[in-house]
Amino acid sequence: MKKPLIIVTNDDGIAAPGIRALVETAQNLGEVIVVAPDKPQSGQGHAITITRPLRIHPVDIFEGIEAYECSGTPVDCVKFAKYFLLKDRKIDLCVSGINHGTNAAINILYSGTMSAAMEASLEGINSIGFSLEDYSWEADFEAARFFALKLMEHVLENGLADCKLLNVNIPKLPLEQIRGIKLCRQAECNYSEEFVQGVDPHGQKYYWLAGELQNNGAAEGTDIWALQNGYVSIVPSTHDLTSYRGLTALQGLEKIL
Ligand code: MN
Repeated sequence: MKKPLIIVTNDDGIAAPGIRALVETAQNLGEVIVVAPDKPQSGQGHAITITRPLRIHPVDIFEGIEAYECSGTPVDCVKFAKYFLLKDRKIDLCVSGINHGTNAAINILYSGTMSAAMEASLEGINSIGFSLEDYSWEADFEAARFFALKLMEHVLENGLADCKLLNVNIPKLPLEQIRGIKLCRQAECNYSEEFVQGVDPHGQKYYWLAGELQNNGAAEGTDIWALQNGYVSIVPSTHDLTSYRGLTALQGLEKIL
């Protein structure tokens, strides 16, 4: 049987330990092509680069793996893989991450990791974004590798039904302390933002966004609840931002004129 073709990307940059963990895991399951940003792109969401050219270079940093670093965003990386590098080939799976830090709850809106996976899902490719609840560059990816392997294997074999995108978050716990997997909905929460002020070495003022997610009392069944209770959270996600409740509840809007 032909090996599945898996594209790997992230938003922390091609040098991040998290993408290395994901590449080494995906390598066990198929042919891997890596296209990832050449620098950290966290928080870039679904941004694309259209006002300047992209620079993309092959890099030899994962043994035996075709890999490219890209000057653009995570979504640029996926578009380049799909429409340039692999334009004549069927891509079986796109995985993004493993992100340093969770992308539970509304973080999916800001996350380059999840936007890259979402972009692939828009192309009909089964996609999974993986994030570990640990921002450290020295984070232990052992548990994340374990769950990433199991989930990629499962999705390659069974697909994802009508859903094309999973947002997977792994708690910061040793593998043996993780209680299992919970299929979740996205938690409701918001950021309480703070702008830290300072003066740069050139005497110019700067402002640095330093928000904190307000997640007190996350309801059972949400991704934040799952992480707080020692589970890997999986939220089946979609790009369709239509409010179906609104579509029903706001019927009257058609009659105001
Ligand atoms: Mn990131």
